[in-house]
Amino acid sequence: MNSDTQKPVPTRIPSSEHKINEDLICAHAQQIIKKLVEAGFQAYLVGGCVRDLLLGKEPKDFDVATNAHPNEICELFKKSRIIGRRFQIVHVYQQRNFIEVSTFRASNSQGEDETTTNNGRIVRDNTFGTIEEDAERRDFTINSMYYDMTSHEVLDFCGGLDDLKNQTIRMIGDDIEARYREDPVRILRALRFQAKLGLKIDDATVKPIPSLIHLLADIPPSRLFDEALKLFHSGHAVKCFQTIEKFGLVRVLFPMTDEARKNNSQFDSLIYAALESTDSRIKNGKPVNPAFVFAILLWQPYLKRLEQYNNNGVSYAEGAWDAGRTTVSKQSSIINIPRRFSIAICEIWKLQPRLLKKHGYKTLKLLEHPRFRAAYDFMCLRTQAGELDESECLWWTKIQEVSAEEQKKMISFKPKRKK
Ligand code: ATP
Ligand code: MG
Repeated sequence: MNSDTQKPVPTRIPSSEHKINEDLICAHAQQIIKKLVEAGFQAYLVGGCVRDLLLGKEPKDFDVATNAHPNEICELFKKSRIIGRRFQIVHVYQQRNFIEVSTFRASNSQGEDETTTNNGRIVRDNTFGTIEEDAERRDFTINSMYYDMTSHEVLDFCGGLDDLKNQTIRMIGDDIEARYREDPVRILRALRFQAKLGLKIDDATVKPIPSLIHLLADIPPSRLFDEALKLFHSGHAVKCFQTIEKFGLVRVLFPMTDEARKNNSQFDSLIYAALESTDSRIKNGKPVNPAFVFAILLWQPYLKRLEQYNNNGVSYAEGAWDAGRTTVSKQSSIINIPRRFSIAICEIWKLQPRLLKKHGYKTLKLLEHPRFRAAYDFMCLRTQAGELDESECLWWTKIQEVSAEEQKKMISFKPKRKK
């Protein structure tokens, strides 16, 4: 960055010097930029999508930054809506998909519309500014580059391109600790990018992390749910988990899991088997359900609670729901698991003992249960981790493959006697 008094001048990287493949840029984002520019505004692709394009990777999502204010953006795009309080951004829709369009934010921490907590966390930040200021407000240098769709140039205000070439994650700004305090989620973001992109976090950027991890407890649980999913569904869940573990974050984010893992290598094997399977599903373009990984991480804490219920003479059916609900809601005080997923988690757990009974009418019915597939996958992972005998899983694999006749034989089907 240049001196404080001067406006920072961006390094402009012409198309001859970068290898951005514009075919990878989503058409909707291109249309939005075109329309904003035609209306006389500045508009660029920004952030992670520019970083990924420079790396030759297909971006997961596209963000647009502009000097148009939220209401001006909404005037231009019929299907749009202002969302967020902390950061007001505009979602511009095309059918069910939307692109996030954000107005340049000012770097001025005295901004009138910025509010911080006692910890220095920004809870409201709607002071608009210039592109230069916007670049400084972003988290890491590699995330603060802009792509100009008209000139096909990359605009780099903070040295992001050099850092990307050197495979370095570097926080923007001099007071790095303050930048984490402004938004402690940046800790998780740094660790995720390290794991996902195989980059190294610069020494000065990594140094304050261990002393600041407790700040994550202050983050709204619903935001942490989104961040946790980004870790687990990044396609690099194993590496992400290892990285957050190295920094003591499993204890902060999943205290029950952390406790249950102590002296329980089988549980550890289960967790890693699930993370590996999630990574491979993502690599193969298969769908992943957020409930699954949470069901795995909370499995032993749930069993422990269930045991307490059973010891107190509560029936299994009643105890299982209560133990399930209590375990999930305890975790939700840190990472809020939305209700639709918490129900799925409890169902996966409740089906586990039912999968061990391999006879009778109800067994075949289980194959039609909406959670059967997840419960079966869950069981296979338990087998892989050494919790169950392999035959348990093989039996269910086989019954899904054989004819109806064979299935009946397998469950030693006894027709009901007519009265
Ligand atoms: P991903 O590949 O996960 O989408 P990303 O960097 O694009 O990574 P987004 O959450 O899509 O992450 O955010 C888009 C951009 O917004 C970032 O690249 C960064 O410039 C900025 N940004 C996001 N979160 C923060 C934050 N907590 N603090 C500062 N800037 C942020
Ligand atoms: Mg992104």
